[in-house]
Amino acid sequence: MFLEIKDLKKFYGEKENRICVLKGVNLSIEEGSIVVILGPSGSGKSTILNIIGGLEVPDNGTILINGKKIDNMKASNLGKYRRDMIGFIFQSYNLIPNLTVKENIELCQKLGDKAIDIDEVIDLLGLTEHKNKFPRYLSGGQQQRTAIARAIVKNPKLLLCDEPTGALDYETSKETLRLLEVVRKKYGTTILMVTHNEAIGKMADKILKISGGEIAKEIVVENPLSVD
Ligand code: ADP
Ligand code: ADP
Repeated sequence: MFLEIKDLKKFYGEKENRICVLKGVNLSIEEGSIVVILGPSGSGKSTILNIIGGLEVPDNGTILINGKKIDNMKASNLGKYRRDMIGFIFQSYNLIPNLTVKENIELCQKLGDKAIDIDEVIDLLGLTEHKNKFPRYLSGGQQQRTAIARAIVKNPKLLLCDEPTGALDYETSKETLRLLEVVRKKYGTTILMVTHNEAIGKMADKILKISGGEIAKEIVVENPLSVD
């Protein structure tokens, strides 16, 4: 199993303000799959993603990625883990406004054998004709494609997507999901996405429903992406 999480707990706040956001999350994800964690706002989805991405520390539980334990990793190793293994995209595209599409992507390119050719990824995401434009001249979908290209160019094993289509209309969301599928096929990237949008969930291989601080239901999607 590529990603395995057991009894993940997370609390926020102190004393009487202490809240339990994750009360024992268990999940496992196969390499090269596209999985969606679905749940309402405030259900702890971003918290799970941030813990997997090494941005937040869990209070309990084990997290294994590729057989490697990341839940009690030292800060110095976490930095390397994030750089080598993880790509992140968010609802807001977080592009640098005074750099072009290509320059935004180049910023995250790694030198070395694992690096992906930058023009290849620009082409894959349909950005060739936009590569010399500044982000403000792009539509939302084009900006998100740039953010995906930037996350992918360092060839991460795991792409974490926090409400990636949250600011996009339905058709553009579908196109974005289709491109994530293209990325998965080409590079074998495992993709974990969180959303409150049920329609987006149906475009994944598997839906994990989060409720009450745990994964309440697991649904295997038949014919993902054929849904409209
Ligand atoms: P979701 O992504 O499902 O909207 P989050 O993981 O962002 O949910 O948040 C889950 C709960 O944890 C919410 O009640 C939120 O207010 C709370 N929370 C998230 N981050 C923090 C934080 N850094 N400090 C205190 N509470 C937080
Ligand atoms: P959408 O309808 O998908 O939101 P837009 O109408 O924002 O898309 O943009 C459509 C196309 O026009 C895009 O390819 C974008 O790059 C281009 N574009 C938008 N605004 C400008 C602009 N001010 N200057 C040059 N090109 C632009």
